[in-house]
Amino acid sequence: MSDQELRISRREFLRVAGVAGAVPLFAAGKALAADAVTIPTRPFGRSGVRVPILSLGGMFDVPGNQLLLRQALKMGVSYWDTADCYEGGLSESGFGRFFKKYPDDRKKVFLVSKADERDPAGMTRLLERSLERLKTDYIDLYLAHNIGDIDEVNLVATRQWAEKMKAEGRIRLFGFSTHRNVARTVRPAADLDWIDGIMLAYNYRTMNTPDLKAAVGTCHGAGIGLTAMKFRGFGPIPGRALTGKKLVEGFRKKGFTEDQAKLKAVWENPKISTMCALMKNMSTLKSFVAAARDRQKLSADDRGVLDAHARETRGGYCAGCANICEAAVDGNVPVSDVMRYLMYHHGYGETEKARGLFHAMDAATRRHMTGLDYGEAERRCPHGLPIARLMHEAVRVLA
Ligand code: SF4
Repeated sequence: MSDQELRISRREFLRVAGVAGAVPLFAAGKALAADAVTIPTRPFGRSGVRVPILSLGGMFDVPGNQLLLRQALKMGVSYWDTADCYEGGLSESGFGRFFKKYPDDRKKVFLVSKADERDPAGMTRLLERSLERLKTDYIDLYLAHNIGDIDEVNLVATRQWAEKMKAEGRIRLFGFSTHRNVARTVRPAADLDWIDGIMLAYNYRTMNTPDLKAAVGTCHGAGIGLTAMKFRGFGPIPGRALTGKKLVEGFRKKGFTEDQAKLKAVWENPKISTMCALMKNMSTLKSFVAAARDRQKLSADDRGVLDAHARETRGGYCAGCANICEAAVDGNVPVSDVMRYLMYHHGYGETEKARGLFHAMDAATRRHMTGLDYGEAERRCPHGLPIARLMHEAVRVLA
């Protein structure tokens, strides 16, 4: 394990927290004193920077949660992730409000933002807007947001733009984020020495699939920093399998919540530099920080429970393999994105966010998506998702 040595052992941690081993780590959060310990860190690829294994996702009411930012930083969660489009710009403005109040803290944070534009002029416009909102003159890692094919960024113009921005000091590192066709989008980046970091959907369901394992290994070997996201592995269909109860109760007996177990599963791969997680209240922040500081690993039985749960609930999870279903639909419909919006609605209860993303889709696409034939897409879907039914549900719930 390449993690920086923890400053206290698990036994000391439990003593400091004042809890017994069988109590959920969440409970330990109450006893966490600011600056008491640090979160383990890992190298972020070849950048020379070390980042905490837990990072703060910025898709929440950041302006209204300034105290949470302060506590996150004190607890060692110093990698902060946002995007031009998050919360209609309020996410970036919220981080900017914090940096305006605490300018000395800017250099303590590894700050990430993203652009939905692809052409250099558009990226420049969005970068300038981000810098203004964030009240900073540089972004540590700037990502092309949500690509589904490496060709979206593997362009001479994109490379020249990234190199120019780095030379001017406006960004330090460049890369992309991806939820779609993840393994086949990530793998070729290993041949691009100007891609410094990748943020990818990665969780206990997908991390051991051969394609993704190979893609992560190759990019890690090439010195690309890897940020995981979507660790919970929720899908567009709600509901729990029989293993769900076992999952919760089994981990609780050992002192973990379900989320903490899922985080630990991802952290067991040292090639992943950090896991970006949404922590929009102090309870969640403390619970996830406690998990990051805890040294107990999942047992083979624990991993078996997660694997069994993944198998049983496979039919409710969208793996983002958009190239499979979207090629089988006679129309330009981002099926995989719509599944993700339903996942935000069902899995996270983030209906307004899901509606916002749905409405950002092309209007013509939204109009004609329920009139298309998804029969062949459903036959090809490796998870057997009822795509037609879900597309109708998306229009009913999110339009
Ligand atoms: S709907 Fe099925 S084929 Fe399409 S991205 Fe999801 S899992 Fe893959």
